[in-house]
Amino acid sequence: MTSPSSAILREVFGYEAFRSPQQAIVEHVVAGGDALVLMPTGGGKSLCYQIPAIAREQQGQGVTVVVSPLIALMHDQVGALREAGVAAAFLNSTLDWEQAQEVERRLLRGEFTLLYAAPERVTTPRFLAQLDALHARGKLSLFAIDEAHCVSQWGHDFRPEYRALTVLHQRYSAVPRIALTATADALTRADIIERLQLEDARLFISSFDRPNIRYQIVEKKDATAQLLRFIEREHEGDAGIVYCQSRRKVEDIAQMLCEHGVNALPYHAGLDAGLRQTHQDRFLREEGVVMVATIAFGMGIDKPDVRFVAHLDMPKNIEGYYQETGRAGRDGLAADAWMVYGLQDVVNQARMIDESPAGEEFKRVMRGKLDALLSLAEAVDCRRVRLLGYFGERSTPCGNCDNCLTPPQVWDGTDAARKLLSTIYRVRQNSGIGFGAGHIMDIVRGKSTEKVAQFGHASLSTFGIGAAFSETQLRGVLRQLIATGALAVDAQAFNTLQLTEGSRAVLKGEQNVQLRESVTVPAARKSHRGGAGGKSARGSAAPASTALDAAGQSRFEALRAWRGEVAREHNLPAYVIFHDATLAAIAERAPATLADLQGVSGIGAAKLEKYGEEVLRVVN
Ligand code: ADP
Ligand code: ZN
Repeated sequence: MTSPSSAILREVFGYEAFRSPQQAIVEHVVAGGDALVLMPTGGGKSLCYQIPAIAREQQGQGVTVVVSPLIALMHDQVGALREAGVAAAFLNSTLDWEQAQEVERRLLRGEFTLLYAAPERVTTPRFLAQLDALHARGKLSLFAIDEAHCVSQWGHDFRPEYRALTVLHQRYSAVPRIALTATADALTRADIIERLQLEDARLFISSFDRPNIRYQIVEKKDATAQLLRFIEREHEGDAGIVYCQSRRKVEDIAQMLCEHGVNALPYHAGLDAGLRQTHQDRFLREEGVVMVATIAFGMGIDKPDVRFVAHLDMPKNIEGYYQETGRAGRDGLAADAWMVYGLQDVVNQARMIDESPAGEEFKRVMRGKLDALLSLAEAVDCRRVRLLGYFGERSTPCGNCDNCLTPPQVWDGTDAARKLLSTIYRVRQNSGIGFGAGHIMDIVRGKSTEKVAQFGHASLSTFGIGAAFSETQLRGVLRQLIATGALAVDAQAFNTLQLTEGSRAVLKGEQNVQLRESVTVPAARKSHRGGAGGKSARGSAAPASTALDAAGQSRFEALRAWRGEVAREHNLPAYVIFHDATLAAIAERAPATLADLQGVSGIGAAKLEKYGEEVLRVVN
């Protein structure tokens, strides 16, 4: 006999089986237990509370309140639920007073299975009074707290409103709660448990691995040209996100990409809100848009077919990096996480921490987090092993990151490091002040610049002792010395270099410095998608896991055009109607009757009834 939860999974959502951790979570919550769920992006968190919500409502326990910080996401999730025949609604600032009142009336009449609301709304006296009324009638079933890391200042997206959510537990202690997040290191996790008073919740931690994402971190040379080459060679016509640090750079890069024929749009907090919304909608709704954005963009973007995430500037920490790169490949098909990284990134991030007005303890934690990211960037071994290790997960080399695929040539930079460090020492002795990276490298390489003459640095015993090294090599050594703490950059004094405690071990030859040889760009390799299911033909997005013949391909295209129209009519992204994978499965099956459509993954009872006939018409 199948459990009621499995029946809901099949009938409502049209999926054959739970993904491994989902079932245990769903059953625990249906039975009234509290849960904290850590699952990577794309893992399938939504079903972990949506199915319990439906099951508990069927048992007469009333409504599930979903706390979600993101208005766009609420809209699309509620749209998707309604498409699947589930009574769902949202309460947020996009509703006018009339509409909000109507939702509230229906809430009190018990018409909803799920109600989505923003955290600041949930904790208002008005809303709590409504919850009181429902609770008194035994019709308050469950609280789901999405993006739970927002409660912690150690998370990357702290939202003070989340702190007030403890009221839910205090006021309705018997109502179960499920909190979910895709990112939390040990510190953040502990903080979530404490802040949301989830001490008694069962902890469900899924593997954080995203095997379909290929991680690449390459040395920054000419970032703009590198990005263009990456997109042209590997992602022509694909949807992707390019992250930059500044608004200015976002604008410049977006423009540059457009000039080269890439369908790119800018997104940052400085743009007019209406324009920002338009760009986000186009990214979600059109195919093959590249969004160039600051980190203001992306939270709650659950577009499944983002094929790459590129970083032109380094994020602050691994959590941010993992969250941002995690937006690629939610559909499980092959995707790339690609970052360029250089000395300037290290210097900038360190300076931002130094100059922030935060307290010393906070800065110390932030520096530790930055160090972890730097050592990921400098790593010569498997990136994934390190990433997962950061989240407390052990693994073996993955075979799908740059270091696994093309093991880097390593050279021993110890000698160069000692020459650089002793020059830094001598220069300070000699002149009484520190100097920046450029001048230090000039001395080591024996270049007679104006500055060298001005300070008489040609007379130093280290002048020219590293003439054999290229500037690129020395820059790499400096970057790694800073990344590992063997050298510091003094932001208060014009980014001058300073020796640290850690310098001594290198100077004394107790610590080796291993560096990756300057990386050559790997050849184009569109072919890696073949296995995991890539594109069958350039510019068309049929998942090739079901390699379609010509007739199938034309059915797929017809279905896609039809889906586009339905999506526009319903004002929803296309994938909310049907995923590409579902369309491809239909196209392959060439159904003649409604019965032929049954069992296609992604077609539940409501969608079969609503769209079945039309799909048959389109296909034939
Ligand atoms: P998350 O919120 O964890 O990032 P979602 O809940 O958006 O992930 O799920 C990611 C995708 O996986 C969605 O398209 C969802 O429909 C699909 N999905 C989730 N669970 C299953 C399942 N058991 N079988 C098939 N597809 C699933
Ligand atoms: Zn690897």
